[in-house]
Amino acid sequence: MIATRHIATDPQRREIEAVERLPLMEGPGDILRRDLEPILGWTGRWAWYAVRIPTGSLLRYPDEIRGLPGDIDVMGGPLTANPQALEAALQKTRPELPPQADPSWAGFIASLRVFYAKELNWPPNLDRITAVEVKSASRDSNGKIHAHRKTAKKAHYQAASLCEMGFDAVALLWIAAAAPVEATGFHSWLAAGRAAASLAQFIEQRRIELNSGQHFGQLVLRVGSLLHAPEWHSGSLGLDLIQRPAPLDVTASTQRMLLRQRMTGLLREAFCEVPFPALLPVVVRFCRACQRPFVSRAPLDRGCTRCGLTAY
Ligand SMILES: [Zn+2]
Repeated sequence: MIATRHIATDPQRREIEAVERLPLMEGPGDILRRDLEPILGWTGRWAWYAVRIPTGSLLRYPDEIRGLPGDIDVMGGPLTANPQALEAALQKTRPELPPQADPSWAGFIASLRVFYAKELNWPPNLDRITAVEVKSASRDSNGKIHAHRKTAKKAHYQAASLCEMGFDAVALLWIAAAAPVEATGFHSWLAAGRAAASLAQFIEQRRIELNSGQHFGQLVLRVGSLLHAPEWHSGSLGLDLIQRPAPLDVTASTQRMLLRQRMTGLLREAFCEVPFPALLPVVVRFCRACQRPFVSRAPLDRGCTRCGLTAY
């Protein structure tokens, strides 16, 4: 059996691992995409994400703007393709599929064709950028729950400050990562799903307070995993929408406009260094050593493409 690290089995790094794995969590068949796209505009694998971007990288001097979170956990937006190329790929793909094929296959195969033909719009347009603040809770194999120590109030404060940073929508994303279940039979994923649902119920009852008068949304991502494989390969994923995020007006304050402008500048700097992405989703990181943003070689590769340093 191959040893696999899971979010739940590493309590010290649980939140970092949850953030790192989020871009890959759309799951087989884009399960999460169907839920997340209408809420945050995140189109599963066909999207760009920026993970753990230090807020300081958007400021000119350290205390230019006070009260912002130290890191932006995950921000993202959709990747788009030339519509004619996509339509042509669909026309070509549909007759090639067997009649019993699920209708979603044609779209999936056509989008792969568009990607390999480099018909994806690159660099991506940054008309819509949304962000999440991640909090997690996990249950280890002894049944003990490890939840983040900060109160719901503190989490709300962080999400509310994210709303002032020039995003189009913001959510507080609670991750319920259950201890991985041994795959003993064909239906082990059901057991994984039950474990995650019971943990999500705990979070929803004990940790989540509804925010009143705030614009951020609240979501719970249920992550049920199996021992032998990473969360995004096998197991059970699901999303509970607790509160829908409200659309934010980027032009409502000069601070929001300024930070949005610097954010798009930072993202474009990373995108423009890559002639075309090699893999999807596209993941942007910030190197603490060279103090510059970069597009990762592969979604989970944390090594800086310039200095080679793995900053964390
Ligand atoms: Zn570097």
